[in-house]
Amino acid sequence: MTDHRPRTGPDDTPEVSPATLAVTAGRPARTPGDPVNPAVVLSSTYVSTGTPGPGEKFYARNGTETWEPFEEALGLLERSPLPALVLGSGMAAIAAALSLVPAGGRLVMPRHAYQMTAALAADLGERTGLRVEAVDIADTDAVLAAVRGDAAGHGGDVAAMLWVESPTNPMLEVADLPALVAGAHAAGALVVVDNTFATPLGQRPLEHGADVVVHSVTKYLAGHSDVVLGAVVTADAALRGRLHGYRTVHGAVAGPWEVWLALRGLRTLALRVERSQHNARVLAERLAAHPAVLEVRHPSLPGDPGHERATRLLDGYGSIIGLRPSGGAEGADAVVEAVRLWLPATSLGGVESSLERRRRFPTESPTVPDDLLRLSVGVEDVEDLWADLRAALDGLAQR
Ligand SMILES: *Cc1c(COP(=O)(O)O)cnc(C)c1O
Repeated sequence: MTDHRPRTGPDDTPEVSPATLAVTAGRPARTPGDPVNPAVVLSSTYVSTGTPGPGEKFYARNGTETWEPFEEALGLLERSPLPALVLGSGMAAIAAALSLVPAGGRLVMPRHAYQMTAALAADLGERTGLRVEAVDIADTDAVLAAVRGDAAGHGGDVAAMLWVESPTNPMLEVADLPALVAGAHAAGALVVVDNTFATPLGQRPLEHGADVVVHSVTKYLAGHSDVVLGAVVTADAALRGRLHGYRTVHGAVAGPWEVWLALRGLRTLALRVERSQHNARVLAERLAAHPAVLEVRHPSLPGDPGHERATRLLDGYGSIIGLRPSGGAEGADAVVEAVRLWLPATSLGGVESSLERRRRFPTESPTVPDDLLRLSVGVEDVEDLWADLRAALDGLAQR
């Protein structure tokens, strides 16, 4: 693997910030005449005889040198002593993490978890007997009671896993992560955190003791809406071994170009996140003052339910905004139709600003308001973004 990389582990090199690591980690050794970027290697198999030794490459579903620089970089960003594991999508990473729940075990998860995470848990519930309990992840007491199995019917049957998303998608609820990890561990449950929204710049769950972090690399980490990719990170070698085994036997592997593009995108993570968060703050404040707006959710707003916790626990308030325009679902659809600069599309975390009405998907949770638009704020000039949104909302006010 690489040499001369800034480390954060117990060795003697100085600790540098995640913003720096995003630029420096996963580079080849500094050998005169060698490239500064890792190569893309296209080979499904490796010259190999006898029983492969630990870490020896022999077949590309098990591991490739094109994955390793990204895995190294993401591991360092999440402050793990171990490299991340890259998978073919965020959902593949989520499926890998959920495989750590033993058959018939209980899973406690946010009622506003990413809708496909909830769908996968429901599917596992039907096929494998996984028992799923949905909670308000912002209500620490209720979450921990569910983990301990306090409710009648569970009889103290402790959950095998607490699944955390914070901030949640799309409701932007903020969890008290340190309290949840401490409480869940005291009860004996594993804690997995989907850190897609916060990114390792906003929150590093392993530092709070979480067991596994999952990412949809598709979003902020890759950042350009040109790849679908996922990753898991853990500081526990035994858990990493199980997750690696899952990836190998389920075949949820990434292509080399996608991983190379993700590392390329990762280099500008701090710049992109800084700019899009700034834009989101400005827009959230202006939106809240517009007459055709019923409600704005963004943790930067002093009145937002997640504001106090986000201020205490997160570095930055993120660049997702929840917006409920006047006129119900029809009004929200009219805004999506009217914008010219904002892209009507699902997904988030790209350089381009996009928006969608979440309940257009029949699978979205019915507790998400019908008129909620999820705005993913990009890195464009904030005045252009505002002018476009304001024109769409002005049109609504005149209806
Ligand atoms: C998009 C997303 C996922 C799923 O990731 P894919 O890369 O689309 O498979 C999981 N969690 C969150 C929070 C997401 O936003």
